[in-house]
Amino acid sequence: MAFQGGRHFLQIPGPTNIPDRVLRALSRPTIDHRGPEFARLSLEILEGLQRIVHTSGPVLIFPSSGTGAWEAALVNTLSPGDRILMVETGHFATLWRNLAAELGLVVDFLPGDWRHGVDAKTVEKTLGEDRAHAIKAVAVVHNETSTGVTTRVSEIRKAIDRAGHPSLLLVDTISSLASTDYRHDEWGIDVTVGCSQKGLMMPPGLGLNAVSEKARRASKSARMKKSYWAWEPILSAGKSGFFPYTPPTNLLYGLREAIHLLEEEGLDNVFARHDRHAEATRRAVRAWGLEILCADPEEYSSSLTAVLMPEGHDADDLRGVILENFNLSLGTGLGKVKGKVFRIGHLGDFNDLMLAGTLSGVEMGLALAGVPCSKGGVAEALEYLQCARKGNVGR
Ligand SMILES: *Cc1c(COP(=O)(O)O)cnc(C)c1O
Repeated sequence: MAFQGGRHFLQIPGPTNIPDRVLRALSRPTIDHRGPEFARLSLEILEGLQRIVHTSGPVLIFPSSGTGAWEAALVNTLSPGDRILMVETGHFATLWRNLAAELGLVVDFLPGDWRHGVDAKTVEKTLGEDRAHAIKAVAVVHNETSTGVTTRVSEIRKAIDRAGHPSLLLVDTISSLASTDYRHDEWGIDVTVGCSQKGLMMPPGLGLNAVSEKARRASKSARMKKSYWAWEPILSAGKSGFFPYTPPTNLLYGLREAIHLLEEEGLDNVFARHDRHAEATRRAVRAWGLEILCADPEEYSSSLTAVLMPEGHDADDLRGVILENFNLSLGTGLGKVKGKVFRIGHLGDFNDLMLAGTLSGVEMGLALAGVPCSKGGVAEALEYLQCARKGNVGR
């Protein structure tokens, strides 16, 4: 393809745009991973991640995608044949379910319509009926990236407790961590699953688990086969800042810088920025006369917005037109909603004018692709962003 001037707009909901300071940090010379400088690097990162996940317990880093961190959460806490409760919030919940089933777990998969989050009442009822406590874990996706729906996971813990059930709570925060408020300890999460390429503003390549005391206790008797993913050798080497194998040193340089950036901005400001961009995006979508896939305003995602196409129009055709004309990548529809939705990622390293550019690309693309809709979405978004600067708008 011929050179196109200006930066590519990477507005898929992960991988996200990488700040220049992180890119530069990634390019430093690799050091001895058994030396003192490396130990200082990894200890600093592990402490930073504890602050981001809001836990005083251990955090583990794997050289892996998010999928690896999913697997680690399961194989460390469970035994073959254990029952686990999962909920079909969308494509990622379905993939995690498939992974659990392949590992030999027995999954109760509560059906969903891909427009709502996890219903705490249904979880409470299901666990209440499990008098023998055969269900060992509830595993949910905090922000379902295929649909743009965020589950209130603190309510899932309350539902488990109301049912008087001893189940562990495993949560995928892959596309919410560092974009949406999340509190591992306070919300009673047992294993938090994360990875590098979304809100953490990093390239793909790092997975993480944050582990409660209860999960660590469960891991002592968990019988699923594991070696590379086993927590204990990693935790024991990690105490002094090392890994039981060669770690991805350069990714860790980048992660340290990304944590600095998040803390310089302040996590609360980071969350407010994501909320603002999400609201501006939704105002644009409504002005275009298009429908937001997420059906419950209480569950709107601050990381991305999935937009339904009018009947008879293919979302991937639209995405193609937008990529070709404006060098802007939007997220494709995944699984059941393939072709029916496109997704606007507004997470990670992002600002008002980048959002304005993104929405302009979508608005022009809709017209070029002949999708029946109204103009004026960008104007609505700009009006909102401008008012937000004066501090006089609600969500
Ligand atoms: C991106 C994503 C994943 C998958 O992560 P990989 O790094 O592709 O393995 C899992 N869950 C959610 C919610 C995601 O957004």
